[in-house]
Amino acid sequence: MGYGDTQVLHGVDFTVRQGEVSCVIGPSGSGKSTFLRCVNGLEPVLGGSLRVLGEEVGYTMGAGRYHPWTPKRFAAFRRNIGMVFQRFNLFAHQTALENVACAPIHVAGRTPAAARELAMRHLEQVGLAAHAHKRPHQLSGGQQQRVAIARALAMEPALMLFDEPTSALDPELVDEVLEVMKALARGGMTMIVVTHEIGFAREVGDTLTFFADGVVVESGRPEAVLAGPRHERTRTFLASVL
Ligand code: ADP
Ligand code: MG
Repeated sequence: MGYGDTQVLHGVDFTVRQGEVSCVIGPSGSGKSTFLRCVNGLEPVLGGSLRVLGEEVGYTMGAGRYHPWTPKRFAAFRRNIGMVFQRFNLFAHQTALENVACAPIHVAGRTPAAARELAMRHLEQVGLAAHAHKRPHQLSGGQQQRVAIARALAMEPALMLFDEPTSALDPELVDEVLEVMKALARGGMTMIVVTHEIGFAREVGDTLTFFADGVVVESGRPEAVLAGPRHERTRTFLASVL
């Protein structure tokens, strides 16, 4: 898995079971974002196989060397996966409600009224019903990220991917986003979360995986990895984030 001729990931073996929360940590440049992009079908798998939600991912974007899926099948696959980024990327000219209702209308084909109702439910879920009419610039970073989570949830995904969702936030805004994610985890959502919030991994993670240089260095129950990392690289990394 990589960019052009550059291979970024080297033989990553990773499993997330339904209802589980898998946390991923690792130094900058170790391939964590690339890994999430592969799971989401955005990067080609050049060797080996990738199974997500019970099916072999058939990459079909661009001029990839390998594209057995039709664009329609690929779109259906991607609709089942929600993604939340470090930068929230909300539409600046739309209200929170419009941001959340947009994909249900334009991608899932819901009526505007049904999409607004659905969007309102998801804004309630992230504690922002009272801010539904506000535009991103009227919201704090933590509130914007919660809107981004509601936007992903509105597509009713089977799997949610989070790529360092709190690392662009001021420290005092981190907890409100983590609380929403914890509630989601407790509600049974299947999640892969790249985060250096070790407390979150300890509290709700079913597994903790340490990536370095495009490989999985170690993986296990968070409490086991945190209490007794087996590899020197994991120990050094943990010492830097704890
Ligand atoms: P992480 O998320 O762990 O910081 P990334 O997955 O972003 O790591 O990056 C892994 C490697 O892939 C890095 O060496 C990075 O420079 C490279 N890389 C990331 N994105 C691209 C890209 N769009 N084109 C080429 N190389 C990239
Ligand atoms: Mg990254």
